Amino acid sequence: MTTVTDPEHIAISKSKGIKIDWKDRHASDYAIGYLRDKCPCASCTGAHGTPPRQPDTPADPASPFQMYKPTLKMLGVEPVGNYAIRIHWSDGHSTGIYSWEHLRNICPCDECRKAH
Ligand SMILES: [Zn+2]
Ligand SMILES: [Zn+2]
Repeated sequence: MTTVTDPEHIAISKSKGIKIDWKDRHASDYAIGYLRDKCPCASCTGAHGTPPRQPDTPADPASPFQMYKPTLKMLGVEPVGNYAIRIHWSDGHSTGIYSWEHLRNICPCDECRKAH
């Protein structure tokens, strides 16, 4: 049984991503697109039988703006209890709740990637 480590400090850049310094002195740096792809909500992960979201889905071919892909941004980040954050994305998505445990699991640093 492991205890989930809490963040010591969270730095949010709405156009770049999130950096977290953990209480165990580990540091994580999540790029914005990476975080969006790792959204843990049911519609993004394909739980409940819905197909998982495909990263980089081509734009609707009927759209005259298909060459234009707006830059993904975070519109806001709100705390959920004391165990998670909810991110409001510029694509209208906001149902993903990123628990500290989930964030720590998806830490993209070399050390954590090797451990997986
Ligand atoms: Zn989602
Ligand atoms: Zn790591």
